[in-house]
Amino acid sequence: MVNDKKIIESDFLVIGSGVSGLTFALKIAIQYKDSKIIIVTKDEKTESNTKYAQGGIATVYDKTVDSFEQHIQDTISAGDGLCNEKVVRMVVKHAPERLQELIDWGTKFDKNDKGEYDLGREGGHSQNRILHHTDVTGAEIERALIAQVNAQSNIEFLEHHYVIDFITEHQAKKSKTKRNSKISCFGAYVLDEKKSVVKTLLSKFTMLASGGSGQVYQTTTNPKVATGDGLAMSYRAKAEIADVEFIQFHPTALYNPGEYPAFLISEAVRGFGAKLRTIDGKAFMHNYDNREELASRDIVARAIDNELKKSGSPHVFFRLHPFRVRKI
Ligand SMILES: Cc1cc2nc3c(=O)[nH]c(=O)nc-3n(C[C@H](O)[C@H](O)[C@H](O)COP(=O)(O)OP(=O)(O)OC[C@H]3O[C@@H](n4cnc5c(N)ncnc54)[C@H](O)[C@@H]3O)c2cc1C
Repeated sequence: MVNDKKIIESDFLVIGSGVSGLTFALKIAIQYKDSKIIIVTKDEKTESNTKYAQGGIATVYDKTVDSFEQHIQDTISAGDGLCNEKVVRMVVKHAPERLQELIDWGTKFDKNDKGEYDLGREGGHSQNRILHHTDVTGAEIERALIAQVNAQSNIEFLEHHYVIDFITEHQAKKSKTKRNSKISCFGAYVLDEKKSVVKTLLSKFTMLASGGSGQVYQTTTNPKVATGDGLAMSYRAKAEIADVEFIQFHPTALYNPGEYPAFLISEAVRGFGAKLRTIDGKAFMHNYDNREELASRDIVARAIDNELKKSGSPHVFFRLHPFRVRKI
């Protein structure tokens, strides 16, 4: 067990046990069977944003009605023209293969009565293309990935291990002052929270997959682990950091003062036809976008924010129609 040592060496150090860290570790473990991989995570291994994802994953599945080009154009439009088109094209075109990987690793997505994948609709999408596992898709993906990772003898988890800082030339007293890509990472200093000791984790490769920073906001649906540690560590290590101004605000969460993080009301609810109403019951989305509730998240979030500012109310309403009930 590496857990008892203060200096721990590995070939690959993976920081974070969400979908990114687990997928990376799994692929490396399969490809480099003789390598030693350590996944450090600051809470239980299941705790992550991934666990709370609800609505599902967008991919072009039914090519009789959908196409890569439509998904690409929807994405560029949702990105207000600011997306890197090359990256959009790559992600959209590779999405079906990545999804198949998740299915092959045991993730279950809902099917309809005909045995076909039940494709949901979400804001900004011109087609039904969301694969989901009821409304707990992320928890299902996390379950399947952790089962796969647990089956690999060359991966070890260190839970309740909180990464503090990268080990770079800075600690070797070869001070680097400029942010650039020539700084090397030799691992990380990690606080073992249960034993209150700082351990030195040395590694040939370090993969940072520590998720987002939603917890810096007064209201968030992100769990308490999402404090942007990875960004802060990268900044201190003088890494080049890009695009941090792009934070996604999900438009709808349950207004329940005192509940933190807030409970997300999934995008899929609007996909099923739920309507937003002002505090005095009036429809307003038609004033902002002709797709109304199915406009992209930035537009719906800004529209709600504007209505809150106009009325002074701390919330708007959601009118839900009876949904079809399905056996689970
Ligand atoms: C409520 C909610 C609903 C969502 N619904 C959807 C959806 O329907 N569809 C969709 O595509 N996306 C959805 N998302 C977004 C999606 O969940 C994330 O984009 C995705 O899970 C990010 O995965 P990740 O592996 O990068 O990060 P995470 O899943 O957040 O994993 C980060 C990991 O790093 C660990 N970590 C952080 N700091 C440290 C540290 N200092 N030391 C050690 N470990 C650390 C954390 O504990 C965690 O294990 C949703 C998010 C939320 C919060």
